[in-house]
Amino acid sequence: ELNYVRRNGERFPAEVDSVVLPGPSARSFVILRDITERKRAEAALVASEQRYRLLFDRNPDGVFAVDTTGRFLVANPACETISGYPMAELLQKTFLELCAPDQLATALEHFQRGVREGGYEQLETALVHQDGRRVEVWVAGEALVSEGQTSALYCTVKDITARKQAEQALARTRAELERHNQELEHRVQERTAKLQKALAEMEHFSYAIVHDMRAPLRALRGFAELAEQQCAGSQQTLALGYFDRIKIASKRMDNLICDSLNYSKTVREQLPSEPVELGNLLRDLVQTYPNLQPEKAEIRLEGAFPLVLGNEAALSQCFGNLLDNAVKFAKPNAPSRIRVWAEPRRSSGLMDEGMAAPEGASHQARKPPIHSSTPLVRIWVEDDGIGIPKNLHRRIFDMFQRGTNHHAGTGIGLAIVSKVVERMGGRVGVESQEGKGSRFWVELPAPT
Ligand code: ADP
Repeated sequence: ELNYVRRNGERFPAEVDSVVLPGPSARSFVILRDITERKRAEAALVASEQRYRLLFDRNPDGVFAVDTTGRFLVANPACETISGYPMAELLQKTFLELCAPDQLATALEHFQRGVREGGYEQLETALVHQDGRRVEVWVAGEALVSEGQTSALYCTVKDITARKQAEQALARTRAELERHNQELEHRVQERTAKLQKALAEMEHFSYAIVHDMRAPLRALRGFAELAEQQCAGSQQTLALGYFDRIKIASKRMDNLICDSLNYSKTVREQLPSEPVELGNLLRDLVQTYPNLQPEKAEIRLEGAFPLVLGNEAALSQCFGNLLDNAVKFAKPNAPSRIRVWAEPRRSSGLMDEGMAAPEGASHQARKPPIHSSTPLVRIWVEDDGIGIPKNLHRRIFDMFQRGTNHHAGTGIGLAIVSKVVERMGGRVGVESQEGKGSRFWVELPAPT
């Protein structure tokens, strides 16, 4: 092989064969063959081989081939690292000999299927390292098939011990966490039960105390009356004034006790709901409550009252309190004119979801528990009484909140209204301006 130069100066490789022709002429027959293409193909082959050798030798994952008995035909250096065996020893072994005993059956099954069906197999398994430790591996093998026969399996093997250990640690942590959670849940349940018992005992205790306070109070009032009678007609005006104060104070105390007992009953008692004829209930109230009689106020029930879902006794208490207040908080010397009416509604929109109310809008006592598609009935109780200052709107449904001391009261009535309505799945609110009357509303679910 020699390099030649063409006429145009281009160099090219060529193969030269020469034959000296016999005879006296001493002539030679020379064949010059341009081998540029062959040289290029050879160089490409060498480059390709180098590339693949590099990929094979430097691959951090093991790459190997085994024959149909599982014996190693070829393996890259990463296989030495993973198995711990030097190349010479490795090539004496079969892949199955390296398998961890507990993995052998599954590995064999995959291997045999790969050979038999000539396809692609992959599995997670484990090897025993040369130093005896267990190495978790992921193996994928592709069959080399010629004329329908598998001659070898070409495989990749990856050491996944670290990942497996991390997975196991994670699983252990999860199990531990689950155990802790269960323990915690158990403890919470135990403590809640204890707390509920203690709370029930305390409620019972305070209810009993409050209830029993009424007897000495009655005695106090009774004896004050007796003493007052004794002094009647005498000149002891100071003493008479004291007896009067004792009577008023004990009456106020008795009202407070009654209202507190009512509130605690409202909180504790079951309030089973059923469809209630609100119109009948309101008419009964207006006809039978002494405070709601025509000489005290003019009460108009306007339009039809749809059925509501609620508890009859609780509803009587609720509207009894609202009407009682409407009568009580009349303007001086002007008996209240009170209107009551109902309107069907559907809870919808942002306001119903407890968003901030714009200026002049209703103040509602509680965040609504009502689902957005529930059909509702809103009942309005409107009076033309003294009205409520704006700064009180948010508070008047809380316990012991009173807007005025000019009227007898305990500040518990509206708290009871709010509580019973909340327990029936409804809500309450108020719109009012000082000096211009008040409009209370109660929204209740309607039967579907
Ligand atoms: P009480 O009537 O015993 O004071 P409530 O809880 O029934 O307690 O009412 C709380 C406060 O709300 C009242 O003290 C009063 O200031 C105000 N209020 C309630 N209803 C009305 C009303 N219809 N008109 C004006 N103020 C009212």
